[in-house]
Amino acid sequence: MTASPEVVVIGGGPAGSTASTLIAQKGHSVRLFEREKFPRFHIGESFMPDTYFPLRRLGMLDKMKASAFVKKYSVQFANDQGKESQPFYFFENNPHECTQTWQVLRSEFDHMLLNNAREHGVDVHEESRVLDVFFEGDKQTGLRVQYKDGREETLHPKVIVDASGQSSIISNRLKIKNWEPKLKKAAVWSYFRGAKREPGPLDEGATLVLQLKEKKGWFWYIPQHNNIVSVGVVADLTYLFDKPAPEGVDQQARLEEIFWREVENCPAVKRRIEGSERCDIYRTQKEYSYRSSRVAGDGWVLVGDAFGFLDPIYSSGLQLAFSSGMFAADCITEGLAKNDLSAEQLGKWGPEFIKGMDRLKKFVCIYYDGFNFGYFVRKYPQMKRHVTDLLIGNVFKDSLDEVWEPLYEVQRELIEKKLEPMPMATAG
Ligand SMILES: Cc1cc2nc3c(=O)[nH]c(=O)nc-3n(C[C@H](O)[C@H](O)[C@H](O)COP(=O)(O)OP(=O)(O)OC[C@H]3O[C@@H](n4cnc5c(N)ncnc54)[C@H](O)[C@@H]3O)c2cc1C
Repeated sequence: MTASPEVVVIGGGPAGSTASTLIAQKGHSVRLFEREKFPRFHIGESFMPDTYFPLRRLGMLDKMKASAFVKKYSVQFANDQGKESQPFYFFENNPHECTQTWQVLRSEFDHMLLNNAREHGVDVHEESRVLDVFFEGDKQTGLRVQYKDGREETLHPKVIVDASGQSSIISNRLKIKNWEPKLKKAAVWSYFRGAKREPGPLDEGATLVLQLKEKKGWFWYIPQHNNIVSVGVVADLTYLFDKPAPEGVDQQARLEEIFWREVENCPAVKRRIEGSERCDIYRTQKEYSYRSSRVAGDGWVLVGDAFGFLDPIYSSGLQLAFSSGMFAADCITEGLAKNDLSAEQLGKWGPEFIKGMDRLKKFVCIYYDGFNFGYFVRKYPQMKRHVTDLLIGNVFKDSLDEVWEPLYEVQRELIEKKLEPMPMATAG
C-alpha cells in the first residue's frame, strides 16, 4: 500500500493534465490515473485562441511554438449554398500573440501535455484505471484503482478530480448527468493527405465550417501538419444514420457510404478533397451534448467533458477543458491551504464557468436554427467583436451579453420574412 496523495485526478486528457499540473505547481502531491497508454487517438483537434492563457500557466507555450502543429488565425464559414464568408480573423479584435492558435493531432498534443504534468511533479500512472469512487451522502470517501500490473488499491485523497471525459465516472455514479435534447448529433470523419488548403500563410491553417445543403448539418475541415486534413460531418443522429445497418455490410463500408453521401451534399468539401488520398479509417462518435447538474461536492470536482460536453461546431471543447481545469485547480489549492474542501469552496468557480458555457450553447443553438454570420455582421457591424469573442473562447465576461438582443432580432426577421436562403454576405 502506498500513502494516499492529497489529490487524485481521474484521466490524463487536457482537463486532467491541466488541473493536476496547476495543483502540483503549488507543491501538493497529485496522482493521476490514465487508463490508456499515450500516445492514443482522440478527436478534438482545433484550438480556440483563448487557450493561450491556460497554456501559458501550464508552461506549454514554448513547446507549442516549437511544435509542428499548424498555426490557426481564423475561422471561416460557408452556407448551405456553398457561399463562403470572409474569414473571422481573431487578431482583428485584439492584436496580441494569443490570437494565433493551433490545429493539433491530439495523440501528440495530449502526450506532450501529460509529459508536462510529469515534469511539474504529477505522479502519472498510465494503463491504470479508476474502478470506482465511494461516497457517504455527498462526500467522497475514497476510490478504488487498478495499476498496470493488475494490483488494486483503495486510496483516500482529500480531493478527487474527475477528468475522465465522456466516461463521466462521478456524474454517472451520482446520476447527475443531464442530456441536451436539442443537440442529439453524430459525427463521421476521416483524414485526407494532400487535400486543398486555403492559399497563403494566414489562411492555410483556418478551420472551415461548411454547411450541408438544406442546412442538414455541417463539415469541419481542419488542416493539420504532415499535409493531412481532418474532415468530418456532423448532423442529427437520426439524419446521419437514417437506416439500420444493412445485413452483411461492415461498419467501415457503412461509414464510407454516409461520409460520401454527405460530401455530395457539400460542394465546398467535395472540391477541396478531390484528388487527395484518405489515410485513416472512417471514425464515428455520437456526440449528444450533456451537462452535470453540479461542478463539485464535498471532496470532489468535475472538469472538462466529465462535467459537460457541448456540440463541437465552434471547437470549444478544449477551451472548456483547460479553463475548467484551471478554475478548479485554483479553488482546490485555495481550499487545501485553508483546510476547506467543502462543495462550496471546490465549486466556487461553477457559476461563472456555466455562464460562459451557456453563452456558447446559445451560439451553437442559433447556428442550428439557421444563423447567418455574414448577414448578421453586415447589419450590426459593431457586434462583430462579440461574435469574434465567442469564436475566440473569450466567453467568461458579461459584456458579451449585449449580442443576444440583435442576434435574436435577426433570427426573428429571417423567420418572419422567410428570407431563406439568405444571401451569404461577406463578414469583412
Ligand atoms: C466529433 C468531435 C469533434 C470535436 N472537435 C473539437 C475541436 O475541434 N476542438 C475542441 O476544442 N474540441 C473538440 N471536441 C471536444 C473535445 O474532444 C473534448 O471536449 C476534449 O477532449 C475534452 O477533454 P477532457 O480532458 O475533458 O476529456 P478527454 O480528452 O476525453 O480525456 C479523458 C481521459 O480520461 C481517461 N479515462 C476515462 N475513464 C477512465 C478511468 N476509469 N480511469 C482512468 N482514466 C480514464 C480517458 O482514457 C481519457 O484519456 C470534439 C468532440 C467531438 C466528439
